[in-house]
Amino acid sequence: MALTRADAAARDAADPLAAFRERFVFTDEQRIYLDGNSLGRLPVATRERLHALADDWGDRLVSGWPDWIDAPTRVGDLLAEAVLGAQPGEVIVGDSTTVNLYKLCSAALDLGPGPVVTNRDNFPTDRYVLEGLAAQRGVELRLVDDIESALDDAAVAVISHVDYRSGEIADMRRLNARGARVVWDLCHSAGAIPIGLRDAGVELAVGCTYKYLNGGPGAPAFLYVADELQPRLRSPIWGWFGQRDQFAMERDYDPVEGIGRFLAGTPPVLDLAAVEEGVKLTAAAGVDRLREKSLALCELIIELHDAWLAPLGFELGSPRDGARRGSHVSVRHPEAWPICRALIERADVIPDFRGPDSIRLGVAPLYTRFVDVYDAIDRLRGLVERGEQRLVDPERARVT
Ligand SMILES: *Cc1c(COP(=O)(O)O)cnc(C)c1O
Repeated sequence: MALTRADAAARDAADPLAAFRERFVFTDEQRIYLDGNSLGRLPVATRERLHALADDWGDRLVSGWPDWIDAPTRVGDLLAEAVLGAQPGEVIVGDSTTVNLYKLCSAALDLGPGPVVTNRDNFPTDRYVLEGLAAQRGVELRLVDDIESALDDAAVAVISHVDYRSGEIADMRRLNARGARVVWDLCHSAGAIPIGLRDAGVELAVGCTYKYLNGGPGAPAFLYVADELQPRLRSPIWGWFGQRDQFAMERDYDPVEGIGRFLAGTPPVLDLAAVEEGVKLTAAAGVDRLREKSLALCELIIELHDAWLAPLGFELGSPRDGARRGSHVSVRHPEAWPICRALIERADVIPDFRGPDSIRLGVAPLYTRFVDVYDAIDRLRGLVERGEQRLVDPERARVT
């Protein structure tokens, strides 16, 4: 194999984004973290901001609210422009992806009831939200292998922009042009690949901020509704934060104009500050530059997979063509679960496992280096050659 560790180090030396790594907290330089697609790293600025905001809370108490209350739309506007290819006023941040999916699917069904559809192997919460809505409303849930051919006679579809297991990118523009109203799940694409929601004619989307956007564990998710559609949609959760003249405490619910009608209750101010810092870093690096580096890192994974892992029984579980792949590469192996455990416990490499047989190697171009990829695959190859996956406890953990 022609590629050496020195080659990987040379690529890091030439990387225009290399300096961003210093803007994250590292507590263990030996550990290689390839799971930024599940939970991003802590930005240094976030730690400082959270300390300052906690002090602010301690000092100002309720009088801080005038400064805090607009965070869902302020952070939403930043995301809209820097990450989502949307306009200010089309995005809010709050609640979880799951809850936001429920809000948008429910609102979309109000516009035109009918069957709901998603991929059979879509992320579980996406399927469950539709399953619950179908049961509540007496509409049919269709779980399909080929989403495109199922769109014409469904009312609402949920599609992941980047598939959480394979990393495959779905064609937004093409799928939006079919019959169903599509709610896009951007969890694995936000901050990882360029997204042009307006250009692609997207009406509805949700996504989380704790993966590539580094907002922190359980950070609130975003929700997007295209400007034109907003007046016709209502959140199924009528909360006081969506109410016109909120503090007039009027008796009847009358939602505000605009995206604010999808707010429900009091926003998580500390969490929103963390999301804001994460999104600012992504904005500073620029999604196009991040994408370029992510493609190069993933190509290195594939090159090393072909040279070192394929002979050990691994198979690529992601598209080879970078244009069709997000920011992670899945490698498949019949012993994927014990190999993944051995990687974490014995080789200090953190990927994650997605059943039945995939190890996801996620690259976060803000802080993943080419030498990290090189060393991680080298350690992976070594431990499988030595059969170390047979030395770990195969018990399935609560979190995989
Ligand atoms: C991570 C992820 C979620 C997470 O939803 P939460 O409500 O934040 O737990 C949803 N959908 C997809 C596709 C994901 O990858």
